[in-house]
Amino acid sequence: MSELRLVVVGAAGRMGRMLIKTISETAGVRLSGAIERSGSEVLGQDAGLLAGVGTLGVPVTDDPLAAFVAADGVLDFTTPAATIAFAGLAAQARIVHVVGTTGLDEADLAKLEAASRHAVIIRSGNMSLGVNLLAALVERVARTLGPEFDIEVVEMHHRMKVDAPSGTALMLGEAAAKGRGITLKDHADRGRDGITGARHAGAIGFAALRGGTVIGEHSVIFAGAGERIELSHKAEDRSLFAHGALRAALWGHGKKPGLYGMADVLGIAA
Ligand code: NAP
Repeated sequence: MSELRLVVVGAAGRMGRMLIKTISETAGVRLSGAIERSGSEVLGQDAGLLAGVGTLGVPVTDDPLAAFVAADGVLDFTTPAATIAFAGLAAQARIVHVVGTTGLDEADLAKLEAASRHAVIIRSGNMSLGVNLLAALVERVARTLGPEFDIEVVEMHHRMKVDAPSGTALMLGEAAAKGRGITLKDHADRGRDGITGARHAGAIGFAALRGGTVIGEHSVIFAGAGERIELSHKAEDRSLFAHGALRAALWGHGKKPGLYGMADVLGIAA
């Protein structure tokens, strides 16, 4: 079987560099392109040198479409605006689009949904096996316990993170809402401050901590009368997400167009 040719967009980012490194260490996949925004100071540099793994013979460019038409898939951990633009180009090139970018709003998600009519898109706020299993457990616990248990999602990330709550926290909130048979949109309680009044019955609360170099820690707390259940995940290395993204690209190759999640990739979809 020939190697899967992959493009990394946002190549100079924290995840971009980790993706390049992971591709270079993984059998069955090959880096075929690396993209950064126009004007970036890394344009023209070898992607392998950028990621600290030695020369790979793939220069960083600002021409995504040319890279996409010569590839089988694109791994995208960038920004919502960039991801929406890349989705159109990936659909045009008919390649698998793996989206790890978080902070997408409803309008962005509708655009991804539209692009997925022509392309395989796999999107997840967290690509690790552990967190996706955690989401399945959260859904089950929420279904079992019922509304007398208050649900709070707590997360901590490094000081550079720009969106809150994290994509993973929202994903866990969605899982809890699904288990409880409610919509997160109508029950999320985000950013409490000041005289907030008593907790709203049935709310799913979120708290975001930021600091240091924490890669990602999430807990879902089910607080009842006199007892508490806490389900937690701690990411210790960004390579977790990169391995998940590669697994998603390999899984998506040859699939029918559509919008998929990591639960599909891992075979744990409900
Ligand atoms: P980062 O270090 O800021 O990297 C983002 C990169 O994308 C930067 O190099 C940025 O370039 C580049 N970029 C932005 N717009 C672009 C464009 N139009 N064309 C090409 N490149 C562009 O951030 P990060 O920590 O790697 O995280 C990136 C995203 O992935 C965030 O949304 C984060 O929450 C998410 N994430 C998801 C998972 C998961 O498992 N799903 C795991 C970790 C992180 P500039 O610096 O020039 O803007």
